[in-house]
Amino acid sequence: MVEAARDSTVNTDLSRAWQVIADEVATFETTIRDLPVVHQPDPLELRGELETRYRFDHPVPIDRLTTELIDLLRRGLVHVTHPRYYGLYNPTVRPAAVVGDTLAALYNPQLAVWSHAPAVQELERLTLRQFARALGYDPDTSAAHFTSGGAEANLAATLAALAMHCPAAATGGLRALDRQPVLYLSRESHHSLVKAARMSGLGTDAVRDVPLDAGYRIDAEALDRMMTDDAAKGFHPFLVVGTAGTTGTGMIDPLHALADVAARHGAWFHVDAAWGGAAVMSPALRPHLTGIERADSITWDAHKWLSVPMGAGMVFTRHPQAMERAFSVSSGYMPPATSAVTIDPHLVTPQWSRRATGLKVFCALAELGADGYARLIDHQAAMGDLLRTALREAGWLIVNDTPLPVVNFTHPDIRVGRTTAVAIRDAIYARGNAWISALPDACGEPALRACITSYLTNEQDVAALVEELESVRG
Ligand SMILES: *Cc1c(COP(=O)(O)O)cnc(C)c1O
Repeated sequence: MVEAARDSTVNTDLSRAWQVIADEVATFETTIRDLPVVHQPDPLELRGELETRYRFDHPVPIDRLTTELIDLLRRGLVHVTHPRYYGLYNPTVRPAAVVGDTLAALYNPQLAVWSHAPAVQELERLTLRQFARALGYDPDTSAAHFTSGGAEANLAATLAALAMHCPAAATGGLRALDRQPVLYLSRESHHSLVKAARMSGLGTDAVRDVPLDAGYRIDAEALDRMMTDDAAKGFHPFLVVGTAGTTGTGMIDPLHALADVAARHGAWFHVDAAWGGAAVMSPALRPHLTGIERADSITWDAHKWLSVPMGAGMVFTRHPQAMERAFSVSSGYMPPATSAVTIDPHLVTPQWSRRATGLKVFCALAELGADGYARLIDHQAAMGDLLRTALREAGWLIVNDTPLPVVNFTHPDIRVGRTTAVAIRDAIYARGNAWISALPDACGEPALRACITSYLTNEQDVAALVEELESVRG
């Protein structure tokens, strides 16, 4: 009886749409390889096509819309999930994570308070505790939450540090402080931290640019001197940020040394491991991130090296009360707290309504297992090593030095001015078979940048990239 009742309400257009999507998901890993990586439509042509097709003056059946959208997405994107997208940390996504994200969209769990979505709150908690342990945090005494990405995580950490070190600002604003708070980055730090300085009201003048050492990592001694100097001048050095895996060059700042300096000056130590954090899942790579466990807070994006769809960052802190001080407000209309062992996320995070971001991350972790994740990460690190070797054999020069799979490289032809990194990059885009980027300053000179961001990237893909480079070098 129940089955019959269900059948009678089946929306056939919708079932056809889902069948199309199911086929698309099931064959995606192989079909994505057949598409050009780079596809840049003419903006006005594309705009015109869409304006003609979608006038919103009649309904479009969902199955037809689904087919049209798939066609549009196939020819209107840089395919960041392509195994030859050697790009900016945008991954190929695990199919299990697509399942999780689909269910999040369908059930639309509201995570502002624990009581509205107990099942998802507890799955997120379980997932975050696993990653906290991998970082070297004690999951029982630390706190973590999902964010929209690394930028939000860095902002939350900045505000948490401010709440702990400049508590008067919570009520009186920064003008209530007798010393101007200053924070320490390097020019290789992610620029979302500069935004955080502006958004938090600290202002970009509060950002100190710490020099790099010969290895292009933050010079801890210079940092120490700058903090002493600033304090003597009446500033309040309250936050030190180290990066574990810089965006351009994949460098890992000396985390222990930075932790020591921050501690000596009584400052908060934040590690931005948006991409590189995933290395803690690999026993082979974990030692390179030693010291991360001493951070007061850590940014780690799941939507980068953990291979889940975008909109999944994480922020961890050893001081749960910091997030509470930064974000807790009382309102009369929210449902009351459930119990002493549960937390209402809207009281400890910048967001209010909260999507089930962690569901896709849980699905990926559960489907792979922690060892499975380690294998994916090790595979990508190995492909990075292979790329370095293949480039050297073809006469290219590697200019950065990192165990992580981001490779900065140049060529004697670039160094003598016969061609440029930008010209090579553009020629690669024009051919469409791979995506790489160019850096104006990678460890002191212009260079190309290729990062392994897909767990599907294999030996043939690496060889294909080197071939592309050789053919466009001319
Ligand atoms: C990508 C990145 C960010 C920003 O993260 P989003 O997820 O893009 O907001 C911050 N820091 C580092 C080191 C990054 O690589």
